[in-house]
Amino acid sequence: MSSPINHPQVDVVILGLGHCGGPVAAELSRAGNKVVGLERGPFWDYSVDWAVGNKFDEYAIMVNRKFDFPCSKATFTMRNNSNQFALPVRRYTKDVQVISMGYGVGGMGAHYAGAMGRIGPWAFQAYSNTINKYGASVLPSDHDLEDWPITYDDAAPYYAEWEKAMGISGTNQDPFEPGITYPTAPHPITPVGKLFHDTAVSLGYHPVPAPSALISSGYTNQYGISRNACIYCGWCAGACNFPCEVGAKGSSHVTTIPAAVNSGNFDLRTFSTIFRIDTDSTGRMATGVRYYDASGNVHVQPAKVVYNALWGFNLIRMMMTSGIGTNYNPVTQTGSLGRAPTELGDASLGTTLGTINIGANAYCAGNGWGGGYVMNDFADDNFDHTGLGFIGGGPIYLGNYPGSGPNNFTFLEPGPANFGSAWKATQKDIKLPTKQTLISTIFEGPQIPEKSMYIDLDPHYNDVYGDPLPRVTMDYGSNELKSAKFVLQKYADIMTKMGCTNVTTIPGNGIQDFHMDDYQAHTRGGARMGSNPATSVFNKWCQCWDMQNLFAAGEILETFGDNTTAGTHVAGMMAYLAADGIKKYLASPGSLV
Ligand SMILES: Cc1cc2nc3c(=O)[nH]c(=O)nc-3n(C[C@H](O)[C@H](O)[C@H](O)COP(=O)(O)OP(=O)(O)OC[C@H]3O[C@@H](n4cnc5c(N)ncnc54)[C@H](O)[C@@H]3O)c2cc1C
Ligand code: SF4
Repeated sequence: MSSPINHPQVDVVILGLGHCGGPVAAELSRAGNKVVGLERGPFWDYSVDWAVGNKFDEYAIMVNRKFDFPCSKATFTMRNNSNQFALPVRRYTKDVQVISMGYGVGGMGAHYAGAMGRIGPWAFQAYSNTINKYGASVLPSDHDLEDWPITYDDAAPYYAEWEKAMGISGTNQDPFEPGITYPTAPHPITPVGKLFHDTAVSLGYHPVPAPSALISSGYTNQYGISRNACIYCGWCAGACNFPCEVGAKGSSHVTTIPAAVNSGNFDLRTFSTIFRIDTDSTGRMATGVRYYDASGNVHVQPAKVVYNALWGFNLIRMMMTSGIGTNYNPVTQTGSLGRAPTELGDASLGTTLGTINIGANAYCAGNGWGGGYVMNDFADDNFDHTGLGFIGGGPIYLGNYPGSGPNNFTFLEPGPANFGSAWKATQKDIKLPTKQTLISTIFEGPQIPEKSMYIDLDPHYNDVYGDPLPRVTMDYGSNELKSAKFVLQKYADIMTKMGCTNVTTIPGNGIQDFHMDDYQAHTRGGARMGSNPATSVFNKWCQCWDMQNLFAAGEILETFGDNTTAGTHVAGMMAYLAADGIKKYLASPGSLV
């Protein structure tokens, strides 16, 4: 191999240009700092790459995953407990593949669903609030729950910056998430959404239109970057794998990265795969990063500050392979990196189904996230948990656009029922909206971190470059199973009151019952923010305890309590917090706490 290509030092180097990379790129470059952004994928130009003539290729998107990083090059391994052998995810198999890995400027945000929503005040101090109100015995015996090092009020201005950058569509009426003024109006409400709203209000609940990152009107953000409104083509509805041809889907490539590029201080390098954070001889300061370009040449990019926005497992793995921080040891239960990851609840915790007659107003189009309502009455500590045996809960969503979506082919398991005229008859009209509509819901709520759950480097499997894959050891605990059962029953009660028939709840058992490809991958907490350097990796400015010039943001830093699918909303807030921290550090290097 030829010798490395050395670049001059810059103020900040950003690792990964998804949702979390974008805000730091925009904020730091616009403040006059020299910033380099490194991204292993391309820059997707929605007006070309996702134009109508190019994008209607469901097979390439859903099966060949052309907008995702290939699992064959780098993936993760997974097991439910430390007695099992972890196996790698080697292929994408589902039509809604939430585990798909970001690839290209925009990352996963290029084709996600766009569900948004803040976490409320309780969750930031869930540990103290729980102990004070219910006592320690309500927590699992090996829990590893901690308070965030910031409060909701501390987070509020950073949330607001993120919401402005994204143009989030919604209202400010949720009593459980105070102080919100979303920049664009909610999407038009569906008939099922209206029925859910009216029913929930009659029961004394507080539904609000589901916040969405797919914008409802044309919008110009605080950086002067304009975006088109959603045209309700329906393409990204039904399954959330589909990028937007008009740029309405909020993601860094249409919100913050263009602002960074316009600053004149931002050097965007695509097809640049980072493999190490370099450190000085003390091992306590980062000196920059090393990466491969598309031809395999090694580049060295020195920087005063390294900002790690590589997402979840990748973020942790990069620190572990670079020898930064103290890896969690599950035997001694010491160390912080990889400690106590949690997962957003999903279908493995149960499903509630019902059928409803929606009359003549069948709603066939829409988008990936909008048209319905969400209520947080059974999330957080918004209801009395005395005697229930769990803490937390989850939001209740109903009435989003069912969507015509592309999704025009079906994955088949082998079997006689899946071929010939009998099968064809079952498929006839399957995509047409009918009066009788099936509503299906899952539980989505936070998990209590436990000391037996962790992320480390897999001793058996490597990526194509020879570096170990991240290994995830994780399953749900009793708190999640109990809260899922409780919230799904509330769903069932509301659906029955709405007039649904055949309301049924199918209980779940946890991730162990799921194939790992189904795994939701809203993983949080494996590199959490905290007040204690022994149990957290980053301080309240997203600054690494062990390396003052290393900052990060992402769902994996969330300490606890994302009560919606919208981990991205909280991670986006955190990216603005990190941007502020980096500005403070550059002005006066040293620990910020
Ligand atoms: C199908 C799907 C639906 C989803 N729906 C929702 C939703 O409705 N609501 C919600 O809140 N969240 C949703 N999510 C999750 C959401 O998309 C992610 O939480 C968010 O996009 C993560 O942003 P990030 O910046 O942390 O990571 P990413 O978007 O993954 O960005 C990280 C970037 O780093 C790059 N990168 C990684 N490794 C390297 C390397 N070694 N060198 C160089 N570059 C590298 C990647 O290519 C990527 O672009 C969904 C995700 C998927 C896949
Ligand atoms: S439904 Fe809206 S957000 Fe989705 S692809 Fe179409 S225009 Fe874009």
